[in-house]
This record gives sequence, C-alpha cells and structure tokens, in this order.
Amino acid sequence: MNISFDLDSTLIPNGNEFETEKRNQIAKLLGIEEVRKGARKIIDHLQSQGHNIHIYTTSFRSKGKIRRVLKYYGIRVNHIVNQVENQRVLRSQNMNASKYPPAFGFDVHIDDLKGVGIESERYNFKAIIIEPSDENWVENIKNNIQRIINDSNTQDRKHRKQV
Ligand SMILES: [Mg+2]
Repeated sequence: MNISFDLDSTLIPNGNEFETEKRNQIAKLLGIEEVRKGARKIIDHLQSQGHNIHIYTTSFRSKGKIRRVLKYYGIRVNHIVNQVENQRVLRSQNMNASKYPPAFGFDVHIDDLKGVGIESERYNFKAIIIEPSDENWVENIKNNIQRIINDSNTQDRKHRKQV
C-alpha cells in the first residue's frame, strides 16, 4: 500500500509533546528538526512489509528541507507533498477538504488531527489518527495497518463469492 504520514505533531514535535530521536549539536546548528522516537522503526517496518512511505503535510517547508531532516535519521520516503502542492492539486479538483490523500495516490494517511479523521469519513478515504501523547504509537500504527489489510482481504473474498 501507499501510506502517507503527516509531519507536525505526528512525526515532528510541536514543543515537547513526545520523546524524540537523538540529534547531535551539528545537526541542531544545521537546522535538522527533531523527529518522534520510533519514527525510523515504524517506517522501516512498513517498508520491509513492502509498503511505500510518503509524507503528506500542510506545512510550507520545502521538500528538500523535509528530505534532509528525514535523511539525517536514516529515513527514506518516496513522495513528499507539502502545502504548496496540496493546495494546487486540491483546488484543481474542487476539493474542499484540508487533506485528500487519494488525490496523490495514498491508500492510508496517518495524522494527529481529529478533523482529518472526520474528513476521512466524509470524503471516504482511510486515515489512522494518532494522538501526540500515544506512547504506544508504533504498535498502534502496525495494528491499524494490519486491520486495514485484513478488512480489504475480507472485502475481496466477499466480492469473489458474489461474482
Ligand atoms: Mg499534524
């Protein structure tokens, strides 16, 4: 599957809302932001299961900057969608949601905002909402992804029985 992650309050802390990975002084000086503890672990895990990992953020950070930050922590992602691209694409599709992952080919989007969860129901896309305070977030994502895979397998089987 194509799985996208939000940045702020999901992978990158806003203040001290969650524990972060180690970062040295030079990285700090170079403007490498902190990332959530476990970010590399969950992304490595999902990639080892054959999923493609993307970033989908409504921040205006440049894609180069985002890639540089992730690379420092050994995280590689496929596509990065920032707010410049998000606004351009959603406007062209007359889409009023703040985020609409299907417009970029993302099957599941992971975000901290409940509003995105509400939009996922209204606009019929799959989202996993993770609280910044969730210390079990890595396991929580793994379980939710597995549930989504199981659900879609069940749907496929039902569909095959019908035809
Ligand atoms: Mg966020």
